[in-house]
Amino acid sequence: MNDKSDGDKWSDYYDTGGDDIFKKVEGFEKLIKREEANTACIFRRPVMSATGARVKVLDPESGKVREMIMMGSNSYLSLNASEEVIEASMAAARKYGYGTGSVSLYSGTTDLHLELERRIAAFYGCEDAILYPTGYAANVGTISALLRPGNAAVNDMFNHASIFDGCLLSGATLQRFAHGRTRQLERILKRNLEKNIGTLVITDGVFSMEGDVAQLDEICTLAKKFNARVMIDEAHALGVIGPTGRGTADLYKLNGQVDVTVGTLSKLPGGIGGYAAGSKAVVDYLRYYARPFFFSTSIPAPVVAGLIEVFKILEEDSGPREALWRNINYAVVKLKEIGYDVGKSASAIIPIMVGEEATLKQFAVDLHRRGIYMSYVAYPAVPAKRCRMRMSLLAQHSREDIDFVLGVLEELGNKYGILPQNSSGDRKKGNRK
Ligand code: PMP
Repeated sequence: MNDKSDGDKWSDYYDTGGDDIFKKVEGFEKLIKREEANTACIFRRPVMSATGARVKVLDPESGKVREMIMMGSNSYLSLNASEEVIEASMAAARKYGYGTGSVSLYSGTTDLHLELERRIAAFYGCEDAILYPTGYAANVGTISALLRPGNAAVNDMFNHASIFDGCLLSGATLQRFAHGRTRQLERILKRNLEKNIGTLVITDGVFSMEGDVAQLDEICTLAKKFNARVMIDEAHALGVIGPTGRGTADLYKLNGQVDVTVGTLSKLPGGIGGYAAGSKAVVDYLRYYARPFFFSTSIPAPVVAGLIEVFKILEEDSGPREALWRNINYAVVKLKEIGYDVGKSASAIIPIMVGEEATLKQFAVDLHRRGIYMSYVAYPAVPAKRCRMRMSLLAQHSREDIDFVLGVLEELGNKYGILPQNSSGDRKKGNRK
């Protein structure tokens, strides 16, 4: 699509070129103005309290503060609001100040940063770990440092955007396999080996829009067979997946066997930052060649102090993770009974498939009006006809809250014709997956 200056969908303004780069911007502005009332209760609704199972929100429709059920937080154990974490963070703010004032390689490293690096490395059974300002920076930095033109980056199609951005920045050849299709991966790896191309296979551990888990065992076996390296992004797996919460490698008993483990400190850990863990040689190399590490200021010490507490909690207390899984298992079973397509979700992320973006918009507004705060996911994050709400469960959600949300989802599923009907026109229970 070129020179776009009008259109009804946000996606109309994504794929545009043309001779005037501002034409699409002006067209989009008109669309947003037309839609202001609706989008206000979909995006950037101001949260007025710590994120947890219930939050206070400044309702854009009424202008008043109201309590909502939070189904859109990635801090799955609500560690962002944990007493120990906040105490450690406040003590560090007094000691170190609220920001570091420099990149890590110069004066932006405190003793706390070194301790967090050590803890993350030990958590994954790796020799060393590097911290980045965000998870996005961790992917972009790690990939663009390790790959060069002439190398190949082989990606699951549903990998996170920051992984693709890292691949583009690296100049390596970008290769993709259909989501979870390891047969395709095998063919690509075989070809690359025949052509002597140094290859990195990259996969999300938990896919952020689907909630399903990578087949890391097959990926690692293939990589070994065809002499490729493996990098995993554990953004949504950390603290959730595997018997000890150490992520996807933990689930497949492959701890310490993945070449590079990347992740974010902004989701379950509830702070901000990213990391890459691996061998000492790889991490040392990243410290000098990963541009977002080298050229961007380090994580503030109060956040680092909070994150150290987070890793202590993850290592010492499995109770919150078990509570989270009780909620996940309950909600998934119920959603399937209602008739929702939740894909192959096996994590705290549950996609609620709605379909076209126009329906999703109305669906999202209804959820808001019923007091449910959930994430809106449309193209280009997902295919245009697979738009969805993304429901994120927390350990702290009560059964009552989950039941309320399920009831509203059932009602809206019927209202918008998303749930399957049987021949007599009644909704057919549990006939999907
Ligand atoms: N990887 C994945 C799979 C993600 O979902 C995200 C967050 N959207 C990131 C990386 C980026 O993490 P951060 O928000 O810390 O930049």
